[in-house]
Amino acid sequence: MTDISQRYQTILDKIKQAEIQYQREPNSVKLIAVSKTKPAKMIREMASLGQQAFGENYLQEAIGKQDELSDLDLQWHFIGHIQSNKTKDITQHFDWVHGVDRFKIAKRLSDQRSDQKSPIDICLQVNLEAELTKSGISPEHAVDLAQQVSTLPNIRLRGLMAIPSPNNSFSVQRRLFMQLRKLLEQINQSGLKLDTLSMGMTDDMEAAIAEGATHIRIGTALFGAR
Ligand SMILES: *Cc1c(COP(=O)(O)O)cnc(C)c1O
Repeated sequence: MTDISQRYQTILDKIKQAEIQYQREPNSVKLIAVSKTKPAKMIREMASLGQQAFGENYLQEAIGKQDELSDLDLQWHFIGHIQSNKTKDITQHFDWVHGVDRFKIAKRLSDQRSDQKSPIDICLQVNLEAELTKSGISPEHAVDLAQQVSTLPNIRLRGLMAIPSPNNSFSVQRRLFMQLRKLLEQINQSGLKLDTLSMGMTDDMEAAIAEGATHIRIGTALFGAR
Protein backbone atom coordinates (compact mmCIF):
# COMPACT_ATOMS: atom_id res chain seq x y z
CA MET A 1 0.00 0.00 0.00
CA THR A 2 1.12 3.56 -0.66
CA ASP A 3 1.35 6.22 2.00
CA ILE A 4 -1.85 7.81 0.81
CA SER A 5 -3.89 4.65 0.74
CA GLN A 6 -2.64 3.74 4.22
CA ARG A 7 -3.52 7.13 5.60
CA TYR A 8 -6.89 7.07 3.92
CA GLN A 9 -7.70 3.66 5.37
CA THR A 10 -6.58 4.79 8.83
CA ILE A 11 -8.93 7.79 8.75
CA LEU A 12 -11.85 5.73 7.46
CA ASP A 13 -11.26 3.26 10.31
CA LYS A 14 -11.08 6.09 12.85
CA ILE A 15 -14.37 7.50 11.62
CA LYS A 16 -16.02 4.10 11.85
CA GLN A 17 -14.66 3.53 15.36
CA ALA A 18 -15.88 6.92 16.54
CA GLU A 19 -19.32 6.36 15.03
CA ILE A 20 -19.59 3.16 17.05
CA GLN A 21 -18.16 4.61 20.25
CA TYR A 22 -20.43 7.67 20.23
CA GLN A 23 -23.57 5.92 18.97
CA ARG A 24 -23.68 7.66 15.66
CA GLU A 25 -25.48 6.09 12.71
CA PRO A 26 -23.14 4.14 10.43
CA ASN A 27 -21.85 6.38 7.60
CA SER A 28 -23.37 9.51 9.12
CA VAL A 29 -20.00 11.28 9.14
CA LYS A 30 -18.75 12.41 5.74
CA LEU A 31 -15.08 12.94 5.05
CA ILE A 32 -13.90 16.04 3.21
CA ALA A 33 -10.29 15.53 2.15
CA VAL A 34 -8.58 18.91 2.51
CA SER A 35 -6.06 19.09 -0.33
CA LYS A 36 -4.88 22.71 -0.09
CA THR A 37 -1.22 23.14 -1.10
CA LYS A 38 -1.09 19.50 -2.30
CA PRO A 39 -0.65 18.58 -5.97
CA ALA A 40 -3.39 17.31 -8.24
CA LYS A 41 -1.75 13.91 -8.51
CA MET A 42 -2.28 13.28 -4.81
CA ILE A 43 -5.95 14.15 -5.22
CA ARG A 44 -6.15 11.81 -8.18
CA GLU A 45 -4.65 9.00 -6.14
CA MET A 46 -7.10 9.54 -3.30
CA ALA A 47 -9.99 9.73 -5.74
CA SER A 48 -8.93 6.36 -7.15
CA LEU A 49 -9.44 4.93 -3.64
CA GLY A 50 -13.05 6.11 -3.64
CA GLN A 51 -12.84 9.60 -2.11
CA GLN A 52 -15.10 12.12 -3.84
CA ALA A 53 -15.28 15.23 -1.63
CA PHE A 54 -12.28 17.57 -1.55
CA GLY A 55 -11.77 20.84 0.31
CA GLU A 56 -9.70 23.77 -0.93
CA ASN A 57 -8.90 27.17 0.63
CA TYR A 58 -7.28 29.14 -2.17
CA LEU A 59 -9.32 29.88 -5.26
CA GLN A 60 -6.64 30.15 -7.94
CA GLU A 61 -4.82 27.07 -6.71
CA ALA A 62 -8.07 25.12 -6.62
CA ILE A 63 -9.10 26.11 -10.15
CA GLY A 64 -5.75 24.96 -11.52
CA LYS A 65 -6.11 21.55 -9.91
CA GLN A 66 -9.75 21.24 -10.94
CA ASP A 67 -8.68 21.76 -14.57
CA GLU A 68 -6.13 18.97 -14.28
CA LEU A 69 -8.75 16.67 -12.74
CA SER A 70 -11.69 17.56 -14.97
CA ASP A 71 -12.01 13.95 -16.14
CA LEU A 72 -13.03 12.92 -12.59
CA ASP A 73 -16.42 13.33 -10.93
CA LEU A 74 -15.43 15.14 -7.73
CA GLN A 75 -17.32 17.27 -5.24
CA TRP A 76 -15.53 20.52 -4.34
CA HIS A 77 -15.88 22.33 -1.02
CA PHE A 78 -14.59 25.89 -0.61
CA ILE A 79 -13.41 26.11 3.01
CA GLY A 80 -11.21 29.22 2.88
CA HIS A 81 -11.88 32.85 3.66
CA ILE A 82 -14.33 34.34 1.15
CA GLN A 83 -13.45 37.69 -0.39
CA SER A 84 -16.44 39.35 -1.97
CA ASN A 85 -14.66 39.88 -5.30
CA LYS A 86 -14.17 36.10 -5.55
CA THR A 87 -17.76 34.97 -5.03
CA LYS A 88 -18.54 34.64 -8.73
CA ASP A 89 -15.63 32.28 -9.36
CA ILE A 90 -16.52 30.36 -6.22
CA THR A 91 -20.08 29.76 -7.46
CA GLN A 92 -18.71 28.47 -10.77
CA HIS A 93 -16.11 26.12 -9.35
CA PHE A 94 -17.55 24.75 -6.12
CA ASP A 95 -20.48 22.66 -4.89
CA TRP A 96 -20.27 23.77 -1.25
CA VAL A 97 -19.06 26.89 0.59
CA HIS A 98 -18.37 26.49 4.31
CA GLY A 99 -17.23 29.90 5.53
CA VAL A 100 -20.17 32.25 4.94
CA ASP A 101 -20.45 34.77 7.76
CA ARG A 102 -22.20 37.80 6.26
CA PHE A 103 -25.51 38.27 4.48
CA LYS A 104 -23.75 40.27 1.77
CA ILE A 105 -21.59 37.27 0.84
CA ALA A 106 -24.55 34.90 0.85
CA LYS A 107 -26.52 37.27 -1.37
CA ARG A 108 -23.67 37.55 -3.85
CA LEU A 109 -23.33 33.76 -4.00
CA SER A 110 -27.05 33.46 -4.64
CA ASP A 111 -27.13 36.22 -7.26
CA GLN A 112 -24.10 34.87 -9.09
CA ARG A 113 -24.88 31.17 -9.06
CA SER A 114 -25.84 30.11 -12.56
CA ASP A 115 -29.51 29.13 -13.04
CA GLN A 116 -28.17 26.14 -14.96
CA LYS A 117 -26.77 24.68 -11.75
CA SER A 118 -28.51 23.44 -8.64
CA PRO A 119 -28.39 25.84 -5.65
CA ILE A 120 -24.98 25.98 -4.02
CA ASP A 121 -24.81 24.36 -0.57
CA ILE A 122 -23.56 26.65 2.15
CA CYS A 123 -22.72 26.63 5.85
CA LEU A 124 -22.53 29.63 8.14
CA GLN A 125 -19.23 29.94 9.95
CA VAL A 126 -19.65 30.60 13.66
CA ASN A 127 -16.96 32.12 15.85
CA LEU A 128 -17.46 30.15 19.08
CA GLU A 129 -14.68 31.81 21.02
CA ALA A 130 -15.38 35.46 20.23
CA GLU A 131 -11.87 35.94 18.95
CA LEU A 132 -11.75 39.33 17.33
CA THR A 133 -9.19 38.26 14.76
CA LYS A 134 -11.08 35.29 13.38
CA SER A 135 -13.85 35.23 10.87
CA GLY A 136 -17.25 33.88 11.73
CA ILE A 137 -20.49 35.26 13.05
CA SER A 138 -21.04 35.43 16.79
CA PRO A 139 -23.43 32.79 18.17
CA GLU A 140 -25.95 35.48 19.24
CA HIS A 141 -26.38 36.60 15.64
CA ALA A 142 -26.45 33.17 14.01
CA VAL A 143 -30.20 32.56 14.25
CA ASP A 144 -31.05 35.86 12.56
CA LEU A 145 -28.45 35.39 9.83
CA ALA A 146 -29.69 31.85 9.17
CA GLN A 147 -33.27 33.14 8.80
CA GLN A 148 -32.17 35.84 6.34
CA VAL A 149 -29.89 33.61 4.30
CA SER A 150 -32.49 30.85 4.04
CA THR A 151 -34.71 33.12 1.92
CA LEU A 152 -32.15 33.45 -0.89
CA PRO A 153 -33.10 31.45 -4.00
CA ASN A 154 -29.87 30.03 -5.46
CA ILE A 155 -28.21 28.85 -2.30
CA ARG A 156 -29.24 26.08 0.02
CA LEU A 157 -28.42 26.76 3.67
CA ARG A 158 -27.30 23.39 5.05
CA GLY A 159 -25.87 24.14 8.47
CA LEU A 160 -23.03 25.52 10.56
CA MET A 161 -19.26 25.36 10.45
CA ALA A 162 -16.60 26.20 13.03
CA ILE A 163 -12.82 26.17 13.38
CA PRO A 164 -12.05 26.22 17.11
CA SER A 165 -8.52 27.23 18.04
CA PRO A 166 -6.23 24.26 18.77
CA ASN A 167 -6.63 22.77 22.22
CA ASN A 168 -5.23 19.46 23.45
CA SER A 169 -8.02 18.85 25.91
CA PHE A 170 -10.66 16.47 24.60
CA SER A 171 -13.27 17.90 26.97
CA VAL A 172 -12.58 21.48 25.87
CA GLN A 173 -12.81 20.36 22.23
CA ARG A 174 -16.13 18.66 22.96
CA ARG A 175 -17.55 21.63 24.80
CA LEU A 176 -17.06 23.95 21.83
CA PHE A 177 -18.46 21.45 19.34
CA MET A 178 -21.43 20.94 21.65
CA GLN A 179 -22.10 24.67 21.48
CA LEU A 180 -22.25 24.48 17.70
CA ARG A 181 -24.62 21.50 17.87
CA LYS A 182 -26.92 23.35 20.32
CA LEU A 183 -26.88 26.40 18.09
CA LEU A 184 -27.98 24.26 15.14
CA GLU A 185 -30.81 22.86 17.28
CA GLN A 186 -31.82 26.38 18.25
CA ILE A 187 -31.91 27.45 14.59
CA ASN A 188 -34.01 24.42 13.74
CA GLN A 189 -36.42 25.26 16.57
CA SER A 190 -36.88 28.62 14.86
CA GLY A 191 -38.35 26.74 11.90
CA LEU A 192 -35.47 25.81 9.61
CA LYS A 193 -34.40 22.26 8.78
CA LEU A 194 -30.61 22.34 8.72
CA ASP A 195 -28.79 19.02 8.55
CA THR A 196 -25.07 19.85 8.54
CA LEU A 197 -22.44 20.35 11.22
CA SER A 198 -19.09 20.93 9.48
CA MET A 199 -16.65 20.54 12.34
CA GLY A 200 -13.54 18.54 13.18
CA MET A 201 -10.04 18.56 11.68
CA THR A 202 -7.02 16.27 12.08
CA ASP A 203 -6.50 17.01 15.79
CA ASP A 204 -10.08 17.16 16.99
CA MET A 205 -12.08 14.86 14.74
CA GLU A 206 -13.11 12.41 17.47
CA ALA A 207 -14.53 15.16 19.70
CA ALA A 208 -16.41 16.55 16.71
CA ILE A 209 -17.89 13.16 15.85
CA ALA A 210 -18.88 12.68 19.49
CA GLU A 211 -20.85 15.94 19.29
CA GLY A 212 -22.60 15.23 16.03
CA ALA A 213 -20.32 16.32 13.18
CA THR A 214 -21.79 15.39 9.81
CA HIS A 215 -18.76 16.60 7.81
CA ILE A 216 -15.18 16.49 9.05
CA ARG A 217 -12.47 18.35 7.15
CA ILE A 218 -9.19 16.44 7.25
CA GLY A 219 -5.94 17.57 5.64
CA THR A 220 -2.75 16.70 7.50
CA ALA A 221 -3.74 13.18 8.52
CA LEU A 222 -4.49 12.31 4.88
CA PHE A 223 -1.90 14.21 2.84
CA GLY A 224 0.87 14.82 5.39
CA ALA A 225 2.14 18.06 6.87
CA ARG A 226 1.86 21.22 4.81
C1 LIG B 1 -6.64 23.46 6.51
C2 LIG B 1 -8.03 23.31 6.99
C3 LIG B 1 -8.51 22.07 7.44
C4 LIG B 1 -7.66 20.82 7.58
O1 LIG B 1 -6.85 20.92 8.71
P1 LIG B 1 -5.91 19.70 9.20
O2 LIG B 1 -5.56 20.07 10.59
O3 LIG B 1 -4.74 19.69 8.28
O4 LIG B 1 -6.70 18.46 9.12
C5 LIG B 1 -9.85 22.01 7.81
N1 LIG B 1 -10.66 23.08 7.77
C6 LIG B 1 -10.23 24.28 7.34
C7 LIG B 1 -11.18 25.42 7.29
C8 LIG B 1 -8.89 24.44 6.96
O5 LIG B 1 -8.48 25.65 6.57
